[in-house]
Amino acid sequence: MRQPLPVGLTRLAGGEVGLNPDEEVQARLHLVFTTFAELSSANAVVRYLWRHHLPLPSRPLRGPSPQVTVWDEATLDAVIGILHNPAYAGAYVYGRTVRDPTRAKLGRRGTGVRDLPMDRWAVLLHDRYPAYISWETFMVNQGRLEANQHSYARGRPGAPGRGDALLQGIAVCARCGGRMQLHYSGPSGEYPVYVCSHTRSQQPERDCQDVRTLAIDREIERVVLEALTPDTLAIALATMSEVEREDAALQKQWQLRLERARYEVERARRQYEAVEPENRLVARNLETQWEEKLRAVEQIERDYEGWRRREQLTVTADDREQILALAQDLPAIWSAPTTTAADRKQLLRLLIDSVLLDNRRQVGQTWLQINWRTGATTEHWARRSVRSYADYADGEQIEERVRTLHADGLMDAAIATALNTEGFRTSHGQPFRGSTVYVLRKLWELPTWNPLGRNPTRWPDGTYSVVGAAELLGVFPGTISLWLRQGVLHGWQISAGTPWHISLPEPEVDRLRARLTRTRSPHMRRSGRPAS
Ligand SMILES: [Zn+2]
Repeated sequence: MRQPLPVGLTRLAGGEVGLNPDEEVQARLHLVFTTFAELSSANAVVRYLWRHHLPLPSRPLRGPSPQVTVWDEATLDAVIGILHNPAYAGAYVYGRTVRDPTRAKLGRRGTGVRDLPMDRWAVLLHDRYPAYISWETFMVNQGRLEANQHSYARGRPGAPGRGDALLQGIAVCARCGGRMQLHYSGPSGEYPVYVCSHTRSQQPERDCQDVRTLAIDREIERVVLEALTPDTLAIALATMSEVEREDAALQKQWQLRLERARYEVERARRQYEAVEPENRLVARNLETQWEEKLRAVEQIERDYEGWRRREQLTVTADDREQILALAQDLPAIWSAPTTTAADRKQLLRLLIDSVLLDNRRQVGQTWLQINWRTGATTEHWARRSVRSYADYADGEQIEERVRTLHADGLMDAAIATALNTEGFRTSHGQPFRGSTVYVLRKLWELPTWNPLGRNPTRWPDGTYSVVGAAELLGVFPGTISLWLRQGVLHGWQISAGTPWHISLPEPEVDRLRARLTRTRSPHMRRSGRPAS
């Protein structure tokens, strides 16, 4: 069954389908797809096209064929139509819409047509047409469009909300492209969370991902304040290169537009010149058309000049000054006592377009990509505050350290001090205390050393404590201490005041016992030797 083709595709003479040979049509459609990939919102794409005076091509389905391409100012419907069209991903689809008479408006053609969900399409065949985007990209786009619709339905998207979460309205799920909304979780709703509700809308029982706001907001704050210090020109420089790149792409669009207009002038001129001089009426008509085409070229040239002047403003030294001025003031404004949470959000909107969040790339960490207003993007990791050590980025390392320090005979408080000095923090981002270590030891089933009682005779690494060495060699602990000071025994301490670890391999034990039998006087003998 032959389907009407969208403007980006053309049925060739042989009946097969190719890309529309008009390079400008192709380029504009590509621009729609790449812009949507960057901005994630059909509305933003429309605004972008308006800002740059770029109309969209379409092909009216009615009237005699072959239908010509018409260019109109971009509308939301047109952009969504392009993004929704599976033909641009190479797929042949039949039965994508259904007529719904209850929604039809009297006397209005085309109303009452409703899109069906993909699983109810009658026919879906992949790789039938040359594609502008891959099927995967098409699917991602559908997800984003749907997520946007949900957030539009709930209220103004992107408008700063009331809560304290900085990214409210600009957090985007990196897993599915859906917008993330602010929710409060916890027994009494005390934890603000960015929740991807895309999956929630399809499978009510499962969320795509939730991201606690606290660590993310802290990281965003840090990055923003750090990135905008006057010394750091990274962002400003990124602006330059990004604007230049975008500039080149737009230059191309303008060039194509001018080329087309000039071609039409040329054609009108040829038509005019081809008319017999005596056929005055036709000649006059054609002359008028020629003149109109010329005026159109002039208009486009003027628009182009205007655009160039406007665009070039964004990369002047003036602008650089402004960026730097903001950089200078921002830290002060940000932390001023009069600056409210809403103000900070507003400030952030000036700098950041959106932030992609991904909780599942690495255990205990959240990956974030900041899409700066300048067009630059930067990637960061935020350590999550999680409640379970198994979920914690440093969980394994901490367990290993605690086990080692414990094996060294350190008391809980000393272990806590050691962990803090080494830069570890609890899963809540707090410094360790003795009681935290105690809880962890219970969790990992590590025995308690009794600070008032005797140390164990042997440490888990095979070395002996002073008491253990004394028992093994049949001497008083004081002798062991003396020998340690004299260097007769080899031992070490984690730090001054912590238990000794005495290395006593078999030959060493024999050597020391031999030495003892030579020097021992009867009153020093201890009864019984521990079995070794
Ligand atoms: Zn998601």
